[in-house]
Amino acid sequence: MRILIDGLNEEKFKRPLQLITNLFFEEPEVAFRREDAMPEAEVVFTVIHEDSVSVKAALTADGLAYQAAYEKSLPECLTDKEVSKTIKKAVSHAYLTVLQQWTGIIQKWGILTGVRPTKLLHKSLQHGETMDNAHKMLAEEYLITPEKIQLMQEIVDRQLLAIPDLYHLRDEVSIYIGIPFCPTKCAYCTFPAYAINGRQGSVNSFLGGLHFEMREIGRWLKENGVKITTVYYGGGTPTSITAQEMDMLYEEMYTSFPDVKNIREITVEAGRPDTITSEKLDVLNKWNIDRISINPQSYIQETLKAIGRHHTVEETIEKYHLARSQGMNNINMDLIIGLPGEGAKEFQHTLDETKKLMPESLTVHTLSFKRASEMTKNKEKYKVAGREEIEEMMNLAEEWTADHGYHPYYLYRQKNILGNLENVGYALPGQESLYNILIMEELQTIIGLGCGASSKFIHPVTGAITHFANPKDPKSYNDSFKEYTEKKISMLKEIFHQESSLA
Ligand code: SF4
Repeated sequence: MRILIDGLNEEKFKRPLQLITNLFFEEPEVAFRREDAMPEAEVVFTVIHEDSVSVKAALTADGLAYQAAYEKSLPECLTDKEVSKTIKKAVSHAYLTVLQQWTGIIQKWGILTGVRPTKLLHKSLQHGETMDNAHKMLAEEYLITPEKIQLMQEIVDRQLLAIPDLYHLRDEVSIYIGIPFCPTKCAYCTFPAYAINGRQGSVNSFLGGLHFEMREIGRWLKENGVKITTVYYGGGTPTSITAQEMDMLYEEMYTSFPDVKNIREITVEAGRPDTITSEKLDVLNKWNIDRISINPQSYIQETLKAIGRHHTVEETIEKYHLARSQGMNNINMDLIIGLPGEGAKEFQHTLDETKKLMPESLTVHTLSFKRASEMTKNKEKYKVAGREEIEEMMNLAEEWTADHGYHPYYLYRQKNILGNLENVGYALPGQESLYNILIMEELQTIIGLGCGASSKFIHPVTGAITHFANPKDPKSYNDSFKEYTEKKISMLKEIFHQESSLA
């Protein structure tokens, strides 16, 4: 699919228009110059801006014409950057409208192409906007459908119930700890995850670096009186290391981090059932960690095989019961919609199996074709469901969770996600993962330690975010963890000292 754009500056508009076009077609080309290849559609824009911005879009395709217009006032107080943002939004608005008319596909998230829709609603409410006005803005300016606005509101309400002081946690931090090892690599995975077998040397040096980071960051937090709200061990699979290594890691956490007893939540992903043992569960118990994830993804054996998860369906169920019997009180399970060879029937089976276990929370992902994954590189090998069936499965998940007492409490979207849908976290009341809320809504600094761990430093006044990522592979991490720790400490100084000088 090739769409020719006329009347706009390529440099400014290429990216926003490409993102909107991607919502409708697979690998479309948005061109700003007429070339030999004939475009399938041509869109001519007229943009006028003075005290308001007025955009007209006229699309011609298959001998038919479609038109849309959008106007938005430009208050004088806006900065140049804000004006340019408003113009881009107005152009996206008119463009999405003509594409919807042409294709007959309604984009439920409207012109929103970002990852965190609920952030937009939080921001309006935090700035004192009434709920009605905030909803009106989402519908009129972003073209989000009433169904999705309702979902956003439901999630925002849940989040504020789970963390009533969500808007006032900027003087605390959360910690993410990345352990980059797994038993084997799954076909859809782009996380830093290295098959652990035969890598004990690499594991040892990695853990050495991680202990160092935990000690140094912990020391800084203690010395500066900064509290920790939540800790999350992810990866990879943090339970791929031995029980003894886990024990030493949690001991380090208790020794180095400030006031661990009052941390609101500590989660350890035990995603791969093949890594869970009774001994490791004892270690988690010893350190009062009772929130873990055990991820079935699917309850169909052939699917697990096709995606390279070398464990059986029975093992997921057996390890779930083992974890329960050894005191794990808050278990999350991840499911994926749209795995190769799976349709509504297979997904219904997965939901039926989930019913027998009733974990405290469920995260329902929609398969995303990430560029670096094995699955994307060999796309033709994997047969996946179409847009309509994906939507049917999403609806099944929505209905099933509502019928069984779960509420949606966070959501995020990804690029290249099947059917342009979203990933949704559901939980039984009071069992939401606080860390997931904090990371999604970007209302607090998150410090990432370990391999591939990303940190986000949130500016105390403007809320501006500075990203910082640790190296993804254990070798580069081992070579540079000291330097990365120092950089993070200097960023923490900037954030927190700025805050205290403003207080
Ligand atoms: S278990 Fe998770 S982190 Fe590990 S390879 Fe599979 S998807 Fe990646």
